Amino acid sequence: MEKYFSFSGKEEHAFWDGIAEDSTQGSALYGACHITDYVYVSQNPIGRNNRSTVATYVGFMKQVQALFARQNQAKEYNYKSKDFSFNSAGACKFCGGTGSIQTAISEEAFMESKCFECNGTGYDRKVLKITYKGRNIAEIMEMTIAEAGEFFASEKKIHSILCELESLGLGYLTLGQPTPALSGGEAQRIKLLKSLLENDVVVLSNCHWIIEMGSGPDSFGGEVIAEGTPHMLKKNERSRIGKYIL
Ligand SMILES: [Zn+2]
Repeated sequence: MEKYFSFSGKEEHAFWDGIAEDSTQGSALYGACHITDYVYVSQNPIGRNNRSTVATYVGFMKQVQALFARQNQAKEYNYKSKDFSFNSAGACKFCGGTGSIQTAISEEAFMESKCFECNGTGYDRKVLKITYKGRNIAEIMEMTIAEAGEFFASEKKIHSILCELESLGLGYLTLGQPTPALSGGEAQRIKLLKSLLENDVVVLSNCHWIIEMGSGPDSFGGEVIAEGTPHMLKKNERSRIGKYIL
């Protein structure tokens, strides 16, 4: 096969190894020489910053924060979306939003403990008085993806992303789970979803023909679940990406 790739050796190896493995099972990827680009989704950890959570990384946290800012209580205090972020104006003034404090126990050693001011949530106390359907923003972050899917059933965009995460077998993760703590498989599935939602919607909407592989974990990931033009996929109930196509 002729190749036209300009990616790093490691990524290109993984890609061609995948094709070779497939070929031994009686099938091959014909026309591979026409592939000029692909997205490599690895199992490497998602960053090292504990302030990056499942909800912030996938991108729907901004919509949750905007939802809180639209509540009447929030309007009374003139709170904006940023006031519901522990990475911004909503951060606990004592711990800076980390939810923990470090105490020096010797010249070189520190002891880390839960911040007593915010009880480890990372949020300013005044922000936690604002609720949506009886829950404050910290309580939302403690919800699992499955619980949040039901809770946000009336919020179409948020609900849709949560359903996608649950369909990838990640319903047990909490929204506030720091992304560096995710396992390799969890990180890979979340990166795949983010890549589909953020980067490729416009590209996908302008493709001539799309072949969609099952995006489930392990052996569920290799099945063709839908194919056709963008218009055909929008009408195909089996398609996961059809609902995002423009
Ligand atoms: Zn604090």
